Amino acid sequence: MASEFSIIEKYFKPISVINSTNVGIGDDGAVISLPKNKQLVIVTDTSICGVHFPKKTPPFAIGWKSLAVNLSDLAAMGADPAFFSLALSLPAELNNEQWLTAFSTGIKTLADKYKVCLVGGDTTKSTVLSITITAHGWVSENTAILRSTAKAGNLIFVSGNIGDGGGGLKGIESCLDKLNTPEPRVKLGLNLLGLATSAIDISDGLLSDLKHILKASKVSARINYDVLPMSVSIKNYIQQTEQYCFPLTCGDDYELCFTIAQEKLAEITAIEKLTAVSLTCIGEVVTGESANIDITSNNAVIQNKLDSCKFAGFKHFF
Ligand code: ADP
Ligand code: MG
Repeated sequence: MASEFSIIEKYFKPISVINSTNVGIGDDGAVISLPKNKQLVIVTDTSICGVHFPKKTPPFAIGWKSLAVNLSDLAAMGADPAFFSLALSLPAELNNEQWLTAFSTGIKTLADKYKVCLVGGDTTKSTVLSITITAHGWVSENTAILRSTAKAGNLIFVSGNIGDGGGGLKGIESCLDKLNTPEPRVKLGLNLLGLATSAIDISDGLLSDLKHILKASKVSARINYDVLPMSVSIKNYIQQTEQYCFPLTCGDDYELCFTIAQEKLAEITAIEKLTAVSLTCIGEVVTGESANIDITSNNAVIQNKLDSCKFAGFKHFF
C-alpha cells in the first residue's frame, strides 16, 4: 500500500507534461497562462463504481473512461481540450501497484492522444472508488456550441452508432470496447464550430439528451427510426428482444447529437472524411415549445408503439 504522496509522485506526476511558464502538480494550486481572445470551457464529471461503471470494469478502462466522458462534454461545446484535474477517492484494496498502474495508464493513454495535461488533483482514502475529473478547454470568444440555439427547420445529426454503450452493459461482446473505452468526438466538435447550431453529447440516451437541446431551444423534433445508425449487434439484439427503444434510451454512447441549418448539408461529407466518423441525419427540428419528439417509421408516427420511450434516458434521481 502506497502513501498519498508516493501515489501522486509515481502514477500521476508522469501524466503531467506542463510547459515551463505554467505550474502543475506539486504546489498548492496549478498556475496556467490564458491565451488571448479565448474563453475557457469548464466541465466536470464524476464516475462512481457501481453507478457509472460495473465493478468488474478493468482499471485501464476506468481511467480512460473517467477522462473520456469529460472530453466528450468539451467536444459537445466545440472546445479544444487543454488540461484537467483528477480527484481520486480510492478504497484500500485498490491501493496496489497493479491497479494504480493500469488506471493511470488508461488516463495517460487518452490524455496523450488529445494532448491534455493533468495539472493537479486530490487523492483520498474512501470506501467506494470514485473519480472526479474537471477538464478545461478553449474556444474563441463567443463561438462555443450551445444547447439553446437550435432552430426549427434545422437537420438533426448523430455521430457513429447509437446503442453500443448500452449493448456493452448488457454483456454483448462486440460492444464492450465501446462501453469501456469510448472515443470522445473531440475532432468532430472542433469541426462543428461555426456550423452546428446546437450540440450535446449522448451520455444518458439519445432521446433524453436531444430533449435537453429542444427544451433549451424551445423547439420540438421529428426523428426517423428507420435511419438510426446502429451496429449489426444492436440490430440483432433488437430483433431478438423486440426492445425497439433500447438504442434511443440506453445511454453511454458518447456520440454527439447536433443540429445544422439545411443549407449547410453539403459540408457534412467533408467533415466525415476529415474526422473518419460517420454522421447520420436522423430527423429535423420543428416548431413547438413543448420539446416533443415524434418518432416516425415508414413515414408514420410510431411513438405510441414505443411506449417505454416515454421513460427516456438514465436519471440518477426520479
Ligand atoms: P494539499 O495538501 O494542499 O491539499 P495535496 O497533498 O492534496 O495538497 O496535493 C499535492 C499536490 O499534488 C497538488 O499539486 C495537487 O494538485 C497534486 N495532486 C494530488 N492528488 C492528485 C491526483 N490524484 N492527480 C493529480 N495531482 C494530484
Ligand atoms: Mg496545500
